[in-house]
Amino acid sequence: MTVFEVVIGIEVHAQLKTNTKLFCGCSTQFGDRPNTNVCPVCLGMPGALPVLNRRAVEYAIMAGLALDCDVRHTSVFSRKNYFYPDLPKGYQISQYDQPICLGGHLDIRVDGVKKRIGITRIHMEEDAGKLIHQGSDTIAGATHSHVDLNRACTPLIEIVSEPDIRTAQEARLYVEALRQRLVYLGICDGNMDEGSLRADINVSLRPVGTEPFGTRTETKNVNSFRSIERAIHSEIARQTQLLTAGERIVQQTRQYDEATQTTRVLRDKEESHDYRYFPEPDLYPLVLTTQWIDTIRAMLPELPEAKARRYRDAGLSEFEIDVVLTEPETSQYLDQCIAAGAVPKDAAKWVVGDLNSVLKETKQSFKESKITPAGLVQLLGLIQSGKLSGKMAKEVLEKCVQTGQLPDAVVAASGATQISDTGELVAVVDRILDANLDVVEKVKSGKTNSADFLMGQVMKETQGRAKPDLVRRLILECIARR
Ligand SMILES: [Zn+2]
Repeated sequence: MTVFEVVIGIEVHAQLKTNTKLFCGCSTQFGDRPNTNVCPVCLGMPGALPVLNRRAVEYAIMAGLALDCDVRHTSVFSRKNYFYPDLPKGYQISQYDQPICLGGHLDIRVDGVKKRIGITRIHMEEDAGKLIHQGSDTIAGATHSHVDLNRACTPLIEIVSEPDIRTAQEARLYVEALRQRLVYLGICDGNMDEGSLRADINVSLRPVGTEPFGTRTETKNVNSFRSIERAIHSEIARQTQLLTAGERIVQQTRQYDEATQTTRVLRDKEESHDYRYFPEPDLYPLVLTTQWIDTIRAMLPELPEAKARRYRDAGLSEFEIDVVLTEPETSQYLDQCIAAGAVPKDAAKWVVGDLNSVLKETKQSFKESKITPAGLVQLLGLIQSGKLSGKMAKEVLEKCVQTGQLPDAVVAASGATQISDTGELVAVVDRILDANLDVVEKVKSGKTNSADFLMGQVMKETQGRAKPDLVRRLILECIARR
């Protein structure tokens, strides 16, 4: 039986986080009333002329630089002609043979091993509007459909990967890494639910060891990480079955259906000549000066890879690094703790662990956390000086997150600090030993495990405020003296 190799390439459409649209001044706000953010330009009225959004160009340059692309000094907008009810002009303004960025790469880690995914190109284009179908999920079968043009002309970049991806897992990791990078750059909100980031996935199979690519299918607009993996698994299974049965793959555009977790055919794949591309006569070629590109390069924020390296050097585990880097505001919080004097590893333990879960419980984000980085650093200080045990610190943390008080204030109000005063503890230990002479004998006869029971009694007596390692030492010392 023929064994097949899977070849995957991905086109990611990312919505740029500009306030206004790509060629007009209308708002890009998500969720506004349908057809309120529109004007003659984005409605495609005759005679209305597009004016390019400078910020969108800046963002596209930032994406290119952050993905090690060659940012082109001249690029050209083209008309991509097709008819659909969500496209009032009858064409989409896109870039075709002269995109803004060429050739780059993004590294992913697959089971701990680095893999480089090539980026073919990045081009700028406008989004289409949105159709809302009644009586069916798709236009086929709908009784009627509504058109909302608020999204028409929203700025997008399309990032096209090389066919370097081999598994569904790699595909997911690639889109995750790409999303993370765009969100860190601050140029895309990465919100897949709202369609700010969507992936078109090209899948083909070829017999292992052969060079030529098989016929591919493209699954459009997959908008969650889980769906990306599932759509690919389903498409691999479908193609494998066809090829094994001696049938041919038809080049198609397909759609992923979450309900059945399979892909279904949308239309036979069009070729680029079907779109009758030609240069957009209403826009000049886009010319970027070296100086402008260099200015943007100098303003790029620290990217996830560089942050990960810094955290690794500071002793954080890979798990901690992953959690901290998931959202920029989490790593920003950690960085503020470090800047305020925290030992990175100690602060990370709380940021990833207890603080993370307490914030989730109270539905706070790191950005709006009621315990500030300075507050967390204060808490770490109380633990380090022995005033709080880990367990007590967790309770103090919860209070801080609920009330917005500083740890010092919470501790002062409750009077609950850890007992690390030896004299005070020895008195308690002696009392417990007197009350449990049989256990003391057991420990003396070598059953040191029985000391755990005595420790439990001391902790109970002190309401958990005693320092555990100190208690254990004192119990053993007191027994030895008897
Ligand atoms: Zn408009």
